[in-house]
Amino acid sequence: METNQELISIVLPVFNEESGIQNTIEILQRFIAYQPEKYELIFVDDGSKDKSADIIKKQKEKYPTIKLIEFSRNFGHQLAITAGIKYAKGNAVIVMDADLQDPPSVIPNMIKKWHDGYDVVYGKRLVREGESIFKKFTAKMFYRLMKSISNIEIPLDTGDFRLMDAKVVKELNKLKEPEPFVRGLVSWVGFKQTSVQYERQERTAGESKYPLSKMIRLASDGITSFSAVPLKIMNYASIFSILIGFIYGLVKIFNHFSSVDFATCSMFILSGIIMFGLGTVGNYLFRTFDASKQRPQYIIANRYGFDYEKNKKYLKTLKQNNG
Ligand code: UDP
Ligand code: MG
Repeated sequence: METNQELISIVLPVFNEESGIQNTIEILQRFIAYQPEKYELIFVDDGSKDKSADIIKKQKEKYPTIKLIEFSRNFGHQLAITAGIKYAKGNAVIVMDADLQDPPSVIPNMIKKWHDGYDVVYGKRLVREGESIFKKFTAKMFYRLMKSISNIEIPLDTGDFRLMDAKVVKELNKLKEPEPFVRGLVSWVGFKQTSVQYERQERTAGESKYPLSKMIRLASDGITSFSAVPLKIMNYASIFSILIGFIYGLVKIFNHFSSVDFATCSMFILSGIIMFGLGTVGNYLFRTFDASKQRPQYIIANRYGFDYEKNKKYLKTLKQNNG
């Protein structure tokens, strides 16, 4: 059966997960045993200071499906994912947390959508079990902010739990951004994308490895790599300031008794002009920054009628046959 030959890679970033990683491996192995596809589990140890890597190595002897990449230090969740998908060999690659917050039971639904012809199937969270109100609120605000200021569509309430076809992974692997915001890049790459809904579980063990400082960094990477709005804010502010200056001036001219003086009005206009200059520098800076990311200008999903190589071969055989 053809489906038997499909290989699915699961990429799991791991940072100090010694208390739960064994359980994760066992649950995943039990899951894999009942699936029609072949699986490889790629663990990326992101510089754990505990026994996570040792536990994975030990389990690797028992289960040949396990592969392990060890980072030399903690490079962060997003780079761990980036490395994992780079070494994945699967026809489809799934990224999931090592703490089982993303339940494996969602995987068959993702694969079904993939078989239906979708190239990216992301998990959309319905509820966030066992997470603080603060985390839920900040996450919600962040996704909404991203949607309103970025020039690409990042689906709301999704994390990095997703299935990607090998061709999407191939394109992602070409991007060499020093601080990648993976879920944004997946949206940016394009292709046919859809979602499956799931209930995000509580962590099976240990604490979240995302303290506020890491969350802020992730959010700032997301915004700065996909939006020019912060750089352009000065331009908008300058127009506002100049307008206020003029209105003040007009009030002074037409109403001699008003308490407005020309100093205030020129202050608004002058600072507006300076802000405009800053905004302009920002715009140029953005263009340089954008170019420095070296993303490809576009990605072609399909080409029709361009089969030069095949055509050449065909013409050659035609010629040979004819004489
Ligand atoms: N993680 C990582 N490097 C880090 C922080 C986290 O590889 O610097 C891993 C972590 O082990 C987990 C996944 O990334 O598998 C998501 O982290 P976590 O579960 O702590 O985030 P949360 O679910 O609380 O947002
Ligand atoms: Mg988690």
